[in-house]
Amino acid sequence: MRGPRSLSAAVELASFRTPTIPPATHTNSYALGSREVVLVEPATPYEDERRAFLEWARAFSLSGRSLVAIVVTHHHKDHVGGAEFLARELGLPLWMHAETEARLPLNAARLLRDGERIVLEGPVPTAWEVLHTPGHAPGHVCLHSARTRELVVGDMLAGTGTILVPPASGDGDMAEYLRQLRRIGALDGFVAYPAHGEPIERPERLCRAYVAHRLGREARIVDVLTIAPGRTVNELVDTVYGDVPIASRPFARLSLEAHLEKLVAEERVRVSGAGAEARYT
Ligand SMILES: [Zn+2]
Repeated sequence: MRGPRSLSAAVELASFRTPTIPPATHTNSYALGSREVVLVEPATPYEDERRAFLEWARAFSLSGRSLVAIVVTHHHKDHVGGAEFLARELGLPLWMHAETEARLPLNAARLLRDGERIVLEGPVPTAWEVLHTPGHAPGHVCLHSARTRELVVGDMLAGTGTILVPPASGDGDMAEYLRQLRRIGALDGFVAYPAHGEPIERPERLCRAYVAHRLGREARIVDVLTIAPGRTVNELVDTVYGDVPIASRPFARLSLEAHLEKLVAEERVRVSGAGAEARYT
């Protein structure tokens, strides 16, 4: 465990080792609330780290605060590895979106919906609005405190590494991810708390940069296909993601497929054939 450390009057961060995508090695868990406390990201599957998580969580009870629930931001394995165990050990309900529950062998005590509020009483009362932000994962949720201008962003933004947006076969949706990035970027957030890496100040700037970066890749795909139509995904990945280290190419390939699906849906690119034989023009 790294931390815990206090980030604001009602937010604490502790970071736990998880089987995540390098360069990230940890997933951040957040404790929200100054008396009533909600824990976000029951992420770690490792026994030593789970014990550290329990100790961290129990310290809130020992200091007179009351644990209310554990929130799961989405179903990926580096976010839910401790969900069942930690909920059982702490006697806490799991809260998540229905699309997340549908992908896990877990029962949600409360299904979170877009626009609903999690109100936490205490010396510094806070209300966190649930934002359903699919794209990276179908049930992904963020939490937004309008009064303090804080955002828990899960895997929508990263303080280290990049966000993988898989194609539909991996439950991703590039067009939706970009829509949700623009939505988050319009929130006037003062700081965003990502699942990986350090807090992000003025997150609207990173949202804009992410959108610009993705649209840049897309423009490059269209350029390449205009000059040399009839390319396969394998041929395109080397051309469009030539700057990405070989080790990261499998992830680049997934992003490329997600971009191609979006471009085909927008009728900016055509596809003939299917599977590995599919050619894009
Ligand atoms: Zn994820």
